[in-house]
Amino acid sequence: MRWVVATANAHKVRELAALLDGLAIELVARPQGVEIPPETGTTFLANARIKARAIAQATGEIALADDSGLEVDALGGDPGVFSARYAGEGASDADNNAKLLGELSGIHGPNRRARFRCALALVAPDGRELTADGRCEGFVLDAECGAGGFGYDPLFQPEGDTRSLAEYAEAEKNAISHRGRAARKLREMLERLGRLTP
Ligand code: IMP
Repeated sequence: MRWVVATANAHKVRELAALLDGLAIELVARPQGVEIPPETGTTFLANARIKARAIAQATGEIALADDSGLEVDALGGDPGVFSARYAGEGASDADNNAKLLGELSGIHGPNRRARFRCALALVAPDGRELTADGRCEGFVLDAECGAGGFGYDPLFQPEGDTRSLAEYAEAEKNAISHRGRAARKLREMLERLGRLTP
């Protein structure tokens, strides 16, 4: 069984591959020329569906999409669905992290509460779909810490820990992360269905 991955983010693909390990699935990149559509939805779930539906239609294969990001309470839920482009279209992780620190200057301690959220959509070419979501609660640190992970990981301290997510080993991150929780829900749904298709 092949699932085409509807994301260009190599970090996400790597985490998803580990999280889906053991299922008889080969995660494959989308063919050249098949583009991921713009994320025009206002929720993670809507964007995950948009991406997976488009790739399933274009390839005639089952497609898996991940839409995820960071919600900061003090910023009214921003950057949210704009997490990848918070500092502007084409922004780097460093640009986005710098912008986040700037927006939170003067906001301290428990007022820096935030959460990562992830929506996964698994869509078949005939339109059948399965979706799952997950979240990971924590706080935004005052400065970047750690060299692992990607995106906002160096600025995110999971609730109850003193480390940033960028200081976690990959398997440790997958055990508590938003993506890990969503992937485990998806696996449970597939196990209940007794098949690897939506
Ligand atoms: P998307 O491709 O629109 O889903 O953008 C996701 C963005 O959210 C990424 O570019 C990161 O900035 C952020 N993000 C999502 N998941 C994670 C994670 O596990 N760690 C750190 N940042 C993440």
